[in-house]
Order: sequence, then structure tokens, then C-alpha cells
Amino acid sequence: MEKSIIIIGGGLSGLAVGCYGRMNGYKTKIFEMHDIVGGVCTGWKRKGYTIDGAMNWLVGTGPKSSAYKLWEELGAAKHWKIYNHDLYSVYEDKDGKAFNIYCDADRFEKYLLEIAPEDKDIIKEFTKGIRDFSRTDMPVGKPNEIMTWFSKITVVKMLPMLMLMKKWLKISAGDFFKRLKNPYLRQTLTSAFGGDQWPMMIIFWMLGFQHAKAAGYVLGGALEHVRFLEERYRALGGAIHCKSKVVKILVENDKAIGIKLADGTEHRADWIVSAADGRTTIFDLLEGKYIDDAIKKRYDNPNLFSPLVYIGLGVADPVKEIPPAISGLSFPLETPITVAGKERRRLDVRTYSYDPAMAPQGKTVLITQFDTDYDYWEKLHKEPEKYEAEKEKIADLVVSLLDKRYPGLASKVEMRDVATPVTWVRYTGNWRGSYEGWQFSAETFTGSMKKTLPGLDNFYMAGQWVNPGGGMPTAAMSGNHTIQLICHRDKKKFITARP
Ligand SMILES: Cc1cc2nc3c(=O)[nH]c(=O)nc-3n(C[C@H](O)[C@H](O)[C@H](O)COP(=O)(O)OP(=O)(O)OC[C@H]3O[C@@H](n4cnc5c(N)ncnc54)[C@H](O)[C@@H]3O)c2cc1C
Repeated sequence: MEKSIIIIGGGLSGLAVGCYGRMNGYKTKIFEMHDIVGGVCTGWKRKGYTIDGAMNWLVGTGPKSSAYKLWEELGAAKHWKIYNHDLYSVYEDKDGKAFNIYCDADRFEKYLLEIAPEDKDIIKEFTKGIRDFSRTDMPVGKPNEIMTWFSKITVVKMLPMLMLMKKWLKISAGDFFKRLKNPYLRQTLTSAFGGDQWPMMIIFWMLGFQHAKAAGYVLGGALEHVRFLEERYRALGGAIHCKSKVVKILVENDKAIGIKLADGTEHRADWIVSAADGRTTIFDLLEGKYIDDAIKKRYDNPNLFSPLVYIGLGVADPVKEIPPAISGLSFPLETPITVAGKERRRLDVRTYSYDPAMAPQGKTVLITQFDTDYDYWEKLHKEPEKYEAEKEKIADLVVSLLDKRYPGLASKVEMRDVATPVTWVRYTGNWRGSYEGWQFSAETFTGSMKKTLPGLDNFYMAGQWVNPGGGMPTAAMSGNHTIQLICHRDKKKFITARP
């Protein structure tokens, strides 16, 4: 008889758990609280425009990367159309001089050498780092918990790359670029790459994937990507129950045996997997009964992705002046502005003019985002009029700043939409609006976060709350690994299949 799995949460991780579960003969049911699946990997339609909420770059779109195999198995690679950007971003200084960050390392190197031939050695070291990391791959194989000697040997082969990662994790962009002699390049690269905020490893990694053309944009955006996975899951025979909020994980003798929904119904299965928010799972659904010091410490001192204020504009014009770039155009403001209580000196704007699915012909969607303080929005949301007024104020401000730069643009704006951290909490339950869970850091990189909870059997956690750094390929890998772990416990051979 088929064993069964209940999956809490129908984000990408939940869908991936479901697909691999079905491939391995489990009867699977996804319970999702929202009325659609996808979680934070989503988009929303407004007045004929689509505001994409997650698809900047997807690791695994290049056939050589191991994440590609996951996307093949999950039914996405067969259908998707990929757009590879030429530019990672365009960063303007106060004199209006544009600095291009190219996705191709050779082109970027040539460009940097033309600007600062005196910095040849450091520029070459920088672009070598990008090329080195363009050869990195995701460790998709087996989860740590069940690695065999053979798979450990494979990891040993990755040792030189792991050493390189460790080295560059300790050096910040600020520290690396301060060695440049050319003041323009020193200043621009330092601020464009976030100063001391990011380790060089992340920068090499991001640009390396671009250089290898391994992380493109799926045309149609996040909504389309989720559609591929949902269709694959349903074709494999999996069940989805939307508008089904889980309020409790049922436990008997320290074994997870089922779930209780908000409507009071109870459902049972042989295995329970939570692919939903970590804090909700551990402290609400399980009432904090299965924790240890490490979990307590992590949740008492959260190092999370900063939540966002996310402004989408539908413009009745292609706005060709804004170049397509992964993280967009960043330009300094003549006078600093205050958004949600925080001073801002720059505006970053992204165009989706390269994706016909996002806007009617001849029109485009622009997106501007600011990282923000969750508590500010949580408090404001308690006073709905003030909350709505603040959103309007931010939309007005962004439109007026863009109009100043591109005269006449304001009159062509026919759709405005503002999402806040509270929006993300409402639709996806992610703690404090952290749309990718835990920040990737030296600590989370080296320490392995457990997918089980101490003292609780028949239960796994999947997704971004047990895989620091989050992201879509991590969600896919997490689904694969969770089912490998369950198969291992059930003494079954783990299998995969392509559609
Ligand atoms: C603005 C933005 C940009 C991004 N850009 C990129 C990018 O370019 N590349 C990339 O790889 N990643 C990107 N990401 C991150 C990526 O989308 C996420 O890391 C990934 O989709 C997380 O998937 P998940 O399934 O682990 O979590 P989630 O998407 O959070 O899924 C959890 C699901 O659980 C459901 N749920 C929660 N509580 C309950 C409950 N009690 N009962 C039932 N259901 C429940 C939620 O509704 C949700 O559907 C971006 C995300 C955002 C928001």
C-alpha cells in the first residue's frame, strides 16, 4: 500500500516535496492557506499588467548546472523560455555617469581595464574570481544526513572550491575594492556592491552564474515558473488543497501523525512535512514543544532577509531609457527622501520591457523596491487609513522622482501597486516578512541546519527556513532531499523521473 505524506505549504518547496514524493510512490497532499500555490514565488495582475514578485534570476537555467536536472524533473525546463541579461546592473554616480556591471566577465574585464588600466592586477583578480565561481555548482546529490562514503568522495573533489568559498566569505566588497588605485572605480564598485554588507563570495557567485549563463530569467516570470511545477505535480497525481490553513500539527507519543486545519477538520498521514514558515511551524503548529538551545538561539536572535516595500508601476510607454538589467538602474537622488521612516539617497528601478507577458504591447512594468523595517509596517497596519495613506505617499514619491528624471512619465502611469512586509506575511506567513528566510552568512554557511526537530519523529521541515539563503533552486533541492530522507527511513530506493 502507498504510504502517505502531508505537506504543509504549497510554495516551491512544498510543490517540490510533492513531486519527488509522487515519483517515489507516496500518496501526497499539499495543504496551502492561500487560494493559489507558489508562496513568495508569485506575481500579481493589476489592470492588464503583471507585477513579478520573485523572478530576478533562476539558478539552473543552464543545462550544465546540476540545478537544471532538478528543474527538468520538476517539469519546468521542458517548457520554459529563458532570457539572459547582458547587464547585471547600471550604477550611476552623482554626476550622472553610468557604470555598467556586465554579466559576461570578459566584457566586464575589458570595460574595467579601459577605465583603470593602472589597476590591472586587482581587476584581473576580480574577474578571475568571477570565472572561478562560474564553475561552481550546487551540491544537489545527497543530503548530508545520508551521505555515503562515495558521495563524501565527491564532496572531497569539491574541496578546492570549498576552500575558495571559505576564503572569499571572509572578505567584504569594501575590503576588496579599497585596494584599487583609481578613485572612481574604487568608490563605484564599493558602493555598487554594498560596501561591507556582502562578502566577495556572494558577488563572485552571483556574477559567476551570469558569466556561465546558468541563471537566467524565465519569461512569464514567477507565475509561469510555478505553473510548470503545479502542472507537473498534478500530472504525477498529487493533490492540492488551497484555502486550507494548518493550525496544528497532531502528535501522538512524540510522533507527528497529522494536521488540524482552521476549519476544524483533521487529516492524517504516515509522514508530515512542513514547507511553511519556520517560526509558525515550530512555535505555533507545534507549540514550541520540540526545540533545543540552537533553535531557541536562532529564533531569539534572528538574522533575516530585510523585508521590502515593493512598488510596481504600469506605464503606457516602453520606457526605453531604462536599460534591462537584473537588479536594474540605480541613480542618486538630488535630495535624500524618507521612505517608511528611513532616509534614502538612491532610487533603484527595474524594467520588464524584455518580457511581453508583463504588460500590453508598447507598455511596460517598472519596479522599485526598498528594504524596510518590519516593526514600522506592523504598527502602521493596525491603523488602516494611515497604512493606506503611507502606501499612496510612497507611490506618489516614486512616480514624481521618476518623472523628474524622465519628464512626462507620470502622465503615462496607469497602474500603481505597493506591497509591504505585511502583504508578505498576510499571503505567505513568512516571519517578519522575510521573503528568503535566514541570511546567508559565514555561520549559516558552515553550520548545517537540521531538517528535523529534537524529539519529534515522522516529521521533516523543508524550504527556506531550514536552508539559509533561500531561493528557488534551494527550494527544488530541499524537496528532493526531503524525499531522499523519507525514502531512506522507509528503506526504499530514491528514484527520479523526467516528464
Ligand atoms: C521579491 C523577491 C525576489 C526574489 N528573487 C529571487 C530570485 O531572483 N531568485 C531566486 O532563486 N529566488 C528569489 N526569491 C526567493 C524565492 O522566491 C524563495 O526563496 C522561494 O520561492 C521560497 O519557497 P518556499 O516554498 O521555501 O517558501 P514560501 O514561498 O514561503 O512557501 C511557503 C508556503 O507555505 C504556506 N503556508 C504558510 N503557513 C501555512 C499554514 N499554516 N498552513 C498552510 N499553508 C501555509 C504559504 O502560504 C506559502 O505558500 C525572491 C523572493 C522575493 C519575495
